[in-house]
Amino acid sequence: VGVEFAPDLPAAQWRTDRETIAAHATDRSGWRPDGQCRGVAFAESVADVQAVLRAAFSARIPVVTRGAGTGLSGGAGATDGSIVLDLSRLRRIHEISVPDAIAVVEPGVITADLDRAAAHHGLRYAPDPASVEISTIGGNIATNAGGLRCAKYGVTRDSVLGLDVVLADGERIRTGGRTVKGVSGYDLTSLFVGSEGTLGVIVGATLRLRPIPAQTSTIAAYFGSVADACDAVVRIAAAGIVPVMAELLDALTLGAIDAAQGSALTSHGNAFLLVQTDGAAAHEEAAAVERVLAASAISMSRTDDPDEAQELIATRRLALPSLERTGRVLIEDISVPRSQLATAMAAVAKISADTGVAIFTLAHAADGNVHPIVVVDPALNEIPTEAWEAAAQIFALALRLGGTLTGEHGIGALKRRWLGEELGPRNHQLQQQLRQVFDPREILNPGKAL
Ligand SMILES: Cc1cc2nc3c(=O)[nH]c(=O)nc-3n(C[C@H](O)[C@H](O)[C@H](O)COP(=O)(O)OP(=O)(O)OC[C@H]3O[C@@H](n4cnc5c(N)ncnc54)[C@H](O)[C@@H]3O)c2cc1C
Repeated sequence: VGVEFAPDLPAAQWRTDRETIAAHATDRSGWRPDGQCRGVAFAESVADVQAVLRAAFSARIPVVTRGAGTGLSGGAGATDGSIVLDLSRLRRIHEISVPDAIAVVEPGVITADLDRAAAHHGLRYAPDPASVEISTIGGNIATNAGGLRCAKYGVTRDSVLGLDVVLADGERIRTGGRTVKGVSGYDLTSLFVGSEGTLGVIVGATLRLRPIPAQTSTIAAYFGSVADACDAVVRIAAAGIVPVMAELLDALTLGAIDAAQGSALTSHGNAFLLVQTDGAAAHEEAAAVERVLAASAISMSRTDDPDEAQELIATRRLALPSLERTGRVLIEDISVPRSQLATAMAAVAKISADTGVAIFTLAHAADGNVHPIVVVDPALNEIPTEAWEAAAQIFALALRLGGTLTGEHGIGALKRRWLGEELGPRNHQLQQQLRQVFDPREILNPGKAL
């Protein structure tokens, strides 16, 4: 480990005990780097973040910024000799402005807490990763998190207007602002969104809020096959309807939920599709969706009651926790053009058959964002070769279909080896050069993202 390091923080905010280090070693991907961090710094102010970075910069010590550690790509994994900079105590909502429809928040705010606070003012924060109750705004921004509602409201980037960022040397800058429009200079706000802790530490954000929709309709449908469900999603788009969400679960995933929750979802069909519409025309749009689905669905039910809708959405949110009960979950998140969704789902099933690796699949279908999920024995230290082989085939499939390795979880530590294939050599090199500009001493989450 070499250089001694102790940031200028009160003892309660700089922890080097075994329990704290163990609790910050990995994220929800379970990826474990060799070795361990030096300690965990708990920032309680922007000045604390600056103090940690100044010290790390001068001692050239790597800093792994951490929100809630719910990431699925190893991005917050604590690499050997690093300092983990935990931002979870920075959880103040400074402002919610109704006239400007914005919120100004600290990075450690839990996403759902912001949404609930906005609701008191008739507003909502649209991005809703399935982890809304456990992930932070800072982590969502650093990964450009997607969510169920992004089919209509976009990903996190579409809700970020401005950022407060501490750079590698401890200096603080602001990007963007409180306006929806703004084109002065390069769009550094967007550059920081999705940068996975490699360009700076996000210490504040100005976020766009939207009105709570007057009406919401939610339709749950079962199909005989995944192909029928994918086809229905394409036909919904062709009918000119932009649903809030279209969530798809395959038969294996339904079975895993049944096993974990004691439900009987598999008795209804081999694929489950949850479609939601919202806004003043929600009911009419839902009726149009029902007409589209009627052509191929085995069964269908609809509710215009928002509380009942939450119960249906809960089924979708139960998928990952149910799978996590059965072992260590490796969740991929390729994204393909929506027109290629059925092809992608069928090809993933074939990869499962060819490699002998069980792959559970769910999808944010309206976005073409597919989550093939491999569950491995948690007792294994290493991910088995055949699981990597299946993952490699899934990534190659995504690129072949004109898609991407990761729609929302980020490259982190786990997908770096494939990134070059997606970006191409010159784009990859440009991004490495860009990183150098922001992080000349290579202290910001090295070994991740690029
Ligand atoms: C059950 C479950 C469901 C999920 N569903 C979704 C989903 O629907 N959509 C989706 O996109 N993701 C989903 N995720 C993944 C995860 O919740 C998101 O990636 C989330 O954005 C991570 O937030 P976090 O606060 O936990 O960040 P962490 O895991 O702590 O960090 C993630 C990355 O961001 C960096 N980082 C964190 N905070 C900052 C900051 N303030 N400044 C700079 N860098 C920072 C870290 O260094 C790391 O690289 C899910 C995870 C789980 C466990």
